[in-house]
Amino acid sequence: MKFLAIIVLLLISVACSERTVQSSSSQYSALQAEQSSQQTINEEVSAGGCTYLTPGNLEPDSGLGINDGRIWAPGISSPFGKINAVAKSQVYLPGGFQSGSSDQCVIQNFSYPHRDTFCETRGSDRDSLNCPRRNIHQGIDINAGSRAQCLQLQDAKASIEAGGPAIVADIIPIRAVADGLISYIGQYTVDLRPATGGISRFRYLHLNMRSLIVEFGDEVKQGEIMGYYYNDFAGTPTTFHLHFEVIAFVNGEAQYVSPYMSFIKAEERSKGIVCTERS
Ligand SMILES: [Zn+2]
Repeated sequence: MKFLAIIVLLLISVACSERTVQSSSSQYSALQAEQSSQQTINEEVSAGGCTYLTPGNLEPDSGLGINDGRIWAPGISSPFGKINAVAKSQVYLPGGFQSGSSDQCVIQNFSYPHRDTFCETRGSDRDSLNCPRRNIHQGIDINAGSRAQCLQLQDAKASIEAGGPAIVADIIPIRAVADGLISYIGQYTVDLRPATGGISRFRYLHLNMRSLIVEFGDEVKQGEIMGYYYNDFAGTPTTFHLHFEVIAFVNGEAQYVSPYMSFIKAEERSKGIVCTERS
């Protein structure tokens, strides 16, 4: 009996060490792939030039926007650092449930211009500082990476659902936009309370929650990796994207405000680019 137990323990330890080697080598090759594809993506991005549509200019028939050009969170960095990132509708563009197309990885979804979705129509009653209606989105959605990385994420998701390790989807890191404290972690939500300024919290949705790097109560520095881009939504289907919210103190009261221009300025700062408005 004792002999049998030793054999079982030995087998378990061999299996565990193999898994460690496998995941660190897959992490390494993912990093290499990220670095080489990032070079190509950045060349494409700089060739195209960063543009954005006017705040409040939503996808047609997707709601009533508000032209709020205020940079509510000055000084934040991009949650994606130097990785290509474009604010886009996840509902009305290809792959979204109102789009009539199932291909969320089309190149259009990773190309400029940025587009606002703060007041985009949703089924829920939600408060905000200044959206004309209450059945709104409350944040902006951001696509990141490239078509190739999106396809890679689809394969990774299938592998995870078949019982594979969550780490295979860790392709695009998501970073703290400011120094602060991880003040809440929900089923698919992570809140970052900044150390200074007029912001109550930044809210990140849909990270790969099974491989989240931060924990409740952690202090993070601006640019530090918090987790990875994914589509966790407690079982509700959604595209791979980051939903990003800014909750600011307005006259002493915490209010959902438009993250749109703060994000575009953060993109400029983090990538060393200039984004121009277009109609
Ligand atoms: Zn969203």
